[in-house]
Amino acid sequence: MKLHNFSGGPAILPDYVYHKAADAIKNYNGTGLSLLETSHRSSAFAGILMEAEALLRELLSIPQAYAVLFLAGGASQHFAQIPLNLLHKDTGAAYLDSGVWAANAINEARYYGRVHVVASGKAEAYRSIPTGFAIPEDSIYFHYTSNNTIYGTTLREVPQTSVPVICDMSSDILSAEIDVTKFGMIYASVQKNAGAAGVSIIVIRKDLLDNVNPDIPNIFNYATLATNRSLYNTPPVFAIYTTLLNLQWLQREGGISAIEKRNIEKSQLLYEEIDRNRLFTGRVSNSTQRSRMNITFWADKPEQEQAFLDFAAERGVVGIKQYADYGGFRASLYNALSLESVKTLVAVMQEFEHHMQ
Ligand code: PMP
Repeated sequence: MKLHNFSGGPAILPDYVYHKAADAIKNYNGTGLSLLETSHRSSAFAGILMEAEALLRELLSIPQAYAVLFLAGGASQHFAQIPLNLLHKDTGAAYLDSGVWAANAINEARYYGRVHVVASGKAEAYRSIPTGFAIPEDSIYFHYTSNNTIYGTTLREVPQTSVPVICDMSSDILSAEIDVTKFGMIYASVQKNAGAAGVSIIVIRKDLLDNVNPDIPNIFNYATLATNRSLYNTPPVFAIYTTLLNLQWLQREGGISAIEKRNIEKSQLLYEEIDRNRLFTGRVSNSTQRSRMNITFWADKPEQEQAFLDFAAERGVVGIKQYADYGGFRASLYNALSLESVKTLVAVMQEFEHHMQ
């Protein structure tokens, strides 16, 4: 039976990535060596890094004023690394609290300096993202999460401010067109839309690198890491290759504008069914903030929750249980998930509705 993988991450990747990655484990590009045994100082890996950077720059139209890095570790590491680099003792940073990951970023920043939370959605269980907040002009940066993976909320507009904007795009990077010039820094774990776990994509405006605190260890220093072009120490060679393969796949599919159209179509289809089906309710009611990547919904009767998970699994639909011990469902429709898989989930929801009558 074909499985339809709606996992929140690590998540489904394109078949193209699996096939090429499997080939590379045996013999990378005719070199006679597995990529797993290939030096990060080899010309083979230099080619991988160069192509990954060039493709990312092309796909997201990243200007030369920004450095592009592929670093070991996930976004949680950068929750700490960003303030370590940029938040000096006598400065403050502004943060928007829109969910668990945003709150984790806030907590890590508090180790390094003053943190001003401009708004929080916590009191209403992060069902929507607060808007209309003020960002203090003297903040060293403003940090927010563009897509809240657990709650299924998203901010499509970049908040307007004169201070550098830093955005965690872990769960929506490469899913829709963005204007990179609106950001001081973008970062993302790759294991949702861009590869195998172990790597973060970092896009940082070079002038911010001039303000990095010099009194921090080199291994965490973005300026040092940028000067060494992601090769300060041994990077996760194989995981970076899976990111390159994702970028190649995305380009073949027509780039960001083509994938964005597909993501709109896929998410509309599922939201329509959630809103129509008598057994389910969408978690996010504000339609402008409904995520196209992580679609969250409940069974109106909690006792039907496990029944639906089992019913779906029997039909090959997996990964729709909400995060950790949160109740309800989350269907993640990342770039590699096909329209056919979404249609299958919709059909399973309809069948379940008939079944329960
Ligand atoms: N930010 C967001 C938006 C996420 O969804 C996640 C993980 N699901 C993280 C940060 C943390 O990523 P990691 O576990 O790779 O550190």
